[in-house]
Amino acid sequence: MPSVRPPGIANRLVCPACGNDEEFVELAHDVLLTSYYRQNSDGSFSHEGDATQINGEVLLFCGACQEDLTYYHQRFREMIF
Ligand SMILES: [Zn+2]
Repeated sequence: MPSVRPPGIANRLVCPACGNDEEFVELAHDVLLTSYYRQNSDGSFSHEGDATQINGEVLLFCGACQEDLTYYHQRFREMIF
């Protein structure tokens, strides 16, 4: 359990229910997934990439106890690098 935090890292997201501060799950509703393929000379296909478009709600959950952390989602997105 993380109890003592290093100074200067007061901004870490911590699950208020179980104290988890390492694993989080993002769940997106109504996702449109487009996949791009190129056909090779032998008739096989190579996957070239994906594009996703999220049209629905995006939720955030604790990866340890599944507590709903959607309240923190905006801050979560701002801290993804
Ligand atoms: Zn939790």
